[in-house]
Amino acid sequence: MSTYHHSLAIRERLCHGCTHCMKKCPTAAIRIEKGRAQVDSAKCINCGQCMQACANNAIGVEQSPFEMLFSFKQRVAIVPAVFFSQFEEEITNKQICMALYDIGFTHLYFAEFGIDILDVLGVTEPEDVPKPVISNYCPAVKHLIHTRYPGLVQHLSRLRAPSQLTAILARAEVDLLSGSPEDTGVFLITPCPAKIAELKTEESDGIITGLFDGVLNLDTVYNMVRNSLTKNRRRFAAALEDTILPPMTARACKWSLIAGEKPTDTLRRLAIDEIHQVIDFLEYIEEEDDLTIDFLELKSCAEGCVGGILCTRNKFLAKERLTHLVTQFPETLDDATRARILAHADLLRENVYEQEPETDESIKLDEDLEVAIHKMEKARRIVAALPGIDCGLCGAPTCAELARDIAQSSASIRQCAVLRLKDPKELNTLARIWGEKISTES
Ligand code: SF4
Ligand code: SF4
Repeated sequence: MSTYHHSLAIRERLCHGCTHCMKKCPTAAIRIEKGRAQVDSAKCINCGQCMQACANNAIGVEQSPFEMLFSFKQRVAIVPAVFFSQFEEEITNKQICMALYDIGFTHLYFAEFGIDILDVLGVTEPEDVPKPVISNYCPAVKHLIHTRYPGLVQHLSRLRAPSQLTAILARAEVDLLSGSPEDTGVFLITPCPAKIAELKTEESDGIITGLFDGVLNLDTVYNMVRNSLTKNRRRFAAALEDTILPPMTARACKWSLIAGEKPTDTLRRLAIDEIHQVIDFLEYIEEEDDLTIDFLELKSCAEGCVGGILCTRNKFLAKERLTHLVTQFPETLDDATRARILAHADLLRENVYEQEPETDESIKLDEDLEVAIHKMEKARRIVAALPGIDCGLCGAPTCAELARDIAQSSASIRQCAVLRLKDPKELNTLARIWGEKISTES
């Protein structure tokens, strides 16, 4: 986990050092250095809040080049239901599927179909995962727990993410049909920079090992589908009857809506969205040991995946269409689809659980506990000497973060804009107290 991939990049040319991203970052991963934002990838959870806050378009999300699709004969798209919610009502689901085929895909699967796979296989959470079980569906939250709340890692669900199970089934089915596995490319379309980072963490030599051959940003594919719909309006209208939607149940379709993961009739469950609220709640439950909740659903984006950073449509309208979409799917899968899943039951069962969880405490102050405690104490004393107004002019989001950076020797007390107004001798004395060299500026 410590070499976790970072999917967002600062376009230095466009960054004006305005601090908006730094102030929005929930993990204090951003500093402004020499007038430009810098991201500490050990602290970043790829939530994309910074990207949303930047009015200068100075933060981008990486993705696989779309042309990569055409190095495969069989091109499988794993599409989240959220993708369909990006379009206004007059564009039908079938038309969207036709446009996806038109831009180059040869096979379509819903990402959430993985929920139905679990259902058909009758797989449940391992008994040794303590309650409350925390959903691992949102990779930003999962990464946050791994890096900041190691005491909660054991609570994370061990079931593999639905899109990954869908990818396993899709590859097996398409390989069987084509007889040439090397010609099959499986691509995930996602609204989520954290999902991209999660998959790229598995990447080696430019190819995402195992499950996916590439990952595409939802907004890129959306624009291509939108163009195709405009160009092919008549053609698509004539062929609508021949197009079939990929299978999925209503229960699976609900999964990316807030509070959509588990039914309430059998479980006590709680759903929380928006990363700052999620952090507030995790801080609370880290100390709390008598929660009566069975299942915790935590999502980084406001309103869940319809509020995904790479979504294009107003999240409330998208949520409304997704809620309506749920009503268009059956409660259960038909026998033919169940048989398709059962035909690959052994392969799916082998891959149904994630590996044992491990923590990544790369953001702790030091590997050595004694040194870490010393640094923590030092940071506590430094923060008392700082003005406490969290102005951000030093390049750190808060005075507490600057104190932590000084304790780590990665910043100087001289960066504090308020203290700089003091007598330089006084500032030098303070700096000396914290073990810094005398400034030659003064
Ligand atoms: S929001 Fe961040 S990345 Fe964007 S211009 Fe301001 S400092 Fe730079
Ligand atoms: S992606 Fe999230 S955690 Fe990472 S720098 Fe941006 S706001 Fe901070």
